[in-house]
Amino acid sequence: MDRLAQCRACLAADPFLYLPLGDHAPAQMLIRPEDIDKKQPAFGLNTQVCLNCGLIQVADQIPPDFFRHYLYVPSGAATMHAHFAELADRLFALAGRDGLIVDIGCNDGLMLAAANALGAKTLGVDPAANIAELANKRGVEVHLDYFTPRSAEILRAQRGPAKIIATSNTFNHIGDLHTFMKSITVFLSGDGYFVVEVPRAKEMLERNLFDNMYHEHVSQFSLLSIVKLGEFFDMEVVDVDPLPKIHGGSMRVFLARKSAGKQRQPIVGKMLQEEKDGGMLERTSYVELVKRVDAIGAELRTMLSRFREQGKKIVGYGASARGNTLITYYGIGRDYLEFLVDKNPLKQGLHSPNTRIPIKPVEAIAQERPDIVFVLAWNFFDEIKVQQSAFLARGGKFVIPLPRPMIVG
Ligand SMILES: [Zn+2]
Repeated sequence: MDRLAQCRACLAADPFLYLPLGDHAPAQMLIRPEDIDKKQPAFGLNTQVCLNCGLIQVADQIPPDFFRHYLYVPSGAATMHAHFAELADRLFALAGRDGLIVDIGCNDGLMLAAANALGAKTLGVDPAANIAELANKRGVEVHLDYFTPRSAEILRAQRGPAKIIATSNTFNHIGDLHTFMKSITVFLSGDGYFVVEVPRAKEMLERNLFDNMYHEHVSQFSLLSIVKLGEFFDMEVVDVDPLPKIHGGSMRVFLARKSAGKQRQPIVGKMLQEEKDGGMLERTSYVELVKRVDAIGAELRTMLSRFREQGKKIVGYGASARGNTLITYYGIGRDYLEFLVDKNPLKQGLHSPNTRIPIKPVEAIAQERPDIVFVLAWNFFDEIKVQQSAFLARGGKFVIPLPRPMIVG
């Protein structure tokens, strides 16, 4: 099914379908040159919102073994070093030297390696063997499996209860949140914390960030939705760190068991109120959002067409999942963008899903001298601008699509 009959957090019926984005291939499914003429499997990407809890969501449609048969290229985490070091500090302060810190979806082990350096006891959980190998190389121990109630039981028997279970940008990829939460309650100690880092739905609504939705990224959380989800498992939100600079605006949410009786920090109530005041539970907010998103698309196409008519060479920066949603929905394909560049060597030489634009190394900007760089990875623009100072210096211009179209240079 390409749409949800009930909210995956609070289980309320019939989440409001406000933005049907059309059929999209999975965003990480890049195309090899030899497959360029083959049809890609695509699924309807229908953005819905639960007006009971403010969870923005799409149906989870990719079969579990799907990527075994198709090329899957994970996104590089190179720019997240400072962020993960800060998260490791925060978690180590809560866990101490004796408390076990577990990272679900630990990826290449960046955060746990930073925690190990502080003297923490750590364990990563991740089903991807090739990525766990990278973590092992950093000295991080990884349990190779999906996180389920069964694997949580095994881990608890082997390692004792976890003081901290953290998950960074993974919770938003989970289709069955209730089973995942059950696994948390199995493994977490009585006075432990479940720490969730995710992009925040409020930013998506206020800053027109529809590009955060793709098939692998099925939820965009409000704090309200995490509170309601926790209630099913006798857990409560006790603290939140806003992370305005991560993925266009994220939050780090701390849940604890109600029986632990931890004090709720004032910021929790403040942020919940902000979400209600910001119209996150009102249908009209989303109807207005769609009008803004479509107006931005029209403006961008006009802008790029004008550059093209002037004979300018236009390329795209960033072959990311969010960028794919953006150009696929806006119909900005090869007729606008000659090629994309990306820092991740695994993506270079491949083509973007849906739009089939060739992906080259970042150095192609210096070599092939485009006039315009359309920044799909606009959330890393500060970094890109510094890296591409030579492009700016020779008169190049950047086009930034969101939160609203802007020309820089
Ligand atoms: Zn809900």
